Amino acid sequence: MSSPAARPDAIRRHNLALILGHVHRDGDLTRAELTARLGVSRSTVGALVGELTGLGLVEESVPSGGARVGRPSHVVGPRSSGPFVVAVDVDISHVTTAAIGLGGTVLVRRTTQTAGGPASPERLAGIVAGAVVQLASAGRTMTGVGVSVPGTVDKRTGTVGVAPNLGWRDAPFGALLTASLGPDVPVAVGNDADLSLLAELSRGNARGCEDVVYVIGRIGVGAGIMANGTPVRGQDGRAGEIGHNVVDAGGPQCHCGKNGCLETIIGDAALLRLAGRTGEPSEEAVAAVFEDARAGDAAALGAVRCVAGWLGQAIGNLVNTLNPERVILGGSLSGVLEIARADIEHALERYGFDPGHPVELTVPRFRQDSALLGAAELAFLELLEDPYAVLPAGR
Ligand SMILES: [Zn+2]
Repeated sequence: MSSPAARPDAIRRHNLALILGHVHRDGDLTRAELTARLGVSRSTVGALVGELTGLGLVEESVPSGGARVGRPSHVVGPRSSGPFVVAVDVDISHVTTAAIGLGGTVLVRRTTQTAGGPASPERLAGIVAGAVVQLASAGRTMTGVGVSVPGTVDKRTGTVGVAPNLGWRDAPFGALLTASLGPDVPVAVGNDADLSLLAELSRGNARGCEDVVYVIGRIGVGAGIMANGTPVRGQDGRAGEIGHNVVDAGGPQCHCGKNGCLETIIGDAALLRLAGRTGEPSEEAVAAVFEDARAGDAAALGAVRCVAGWLGQAIGNLVNTLNPERVILGGSLSGVLEIARADIEHALERYGFDPGHPVELTVPRFRQDSALLGAAELAFLELLEDPYAVLPAGR
């Protein structure tokens, strides 16, 4: 039911959310900058900033330093002691949990090793719930939990469809977390590549892009895709599983049951195998290969260059399918790009439909934290859309 008074209120709440979004993405902005961005009057911006201040979401300050002539201009920024979300990045061998404030400020973080192989959904839900309870006891307002998982996610239910490296299938992970945390804590679950892309779109190296792909390569490999300005997820979150495109039918066995999937050839385990390393894949082991490759170790450099060639071919297939303006290479693939860009570009020229057609290859701004910060973005979505939907008035 609508009344004559509803419309101005809806516009005000919309503008309130717009200002919060600008401050969240860009940090400190002057009232004049906000006025220009929203295209409303100064007094309207003043009233909205006052309202956001009253809600405990933003604060105004006078920047220190920089001798300027005239009256110092106040800047509006996220309130340093304002609400936060808990972000969770689930990887195969470890889980990172962090309290993250508006503006993407990481307040506290901790990493828990999941010793003894990948954790079951129930065990992982217990680890995450324990961390959330601990982080939420800091006395500030915790508005939600966002979780990144290396698997396909049905975003409507938070159910993980397939996560081959975790050994999960149809795991009701979102529901398990809600059962542990209670119905008052909003929980959102997303795919690691999709959330990495979300972080880079919000304030990283995909800002302003309409057609962009984020390829994440850790133990598993997957892609977060935006086409024509719209995230591509498929009917139930299974789009972008490029790690399971078979590129060598006679290749190594994959956790998904097939042979020669892309991730068996460019994932962390493959890089370590090619470099002649033994032991379980880990960030440290991969970092050691990169360090040795940079120092000129022939086996390590050969492994990185071999992965780079296959990666370039995979990017060529993506470019032929999606025509992105930019491809962001995250996880261990950042190191591969930095060490062997020429090999990637050579393969891209060889396998791309139109050699030389521009596509920018870059590393993520947030490096290994893209998925974690993307999980925070997911948890912040509701607050950013309408602060009053999350916070009671007059806090
Ligand atoms: Zn596979």
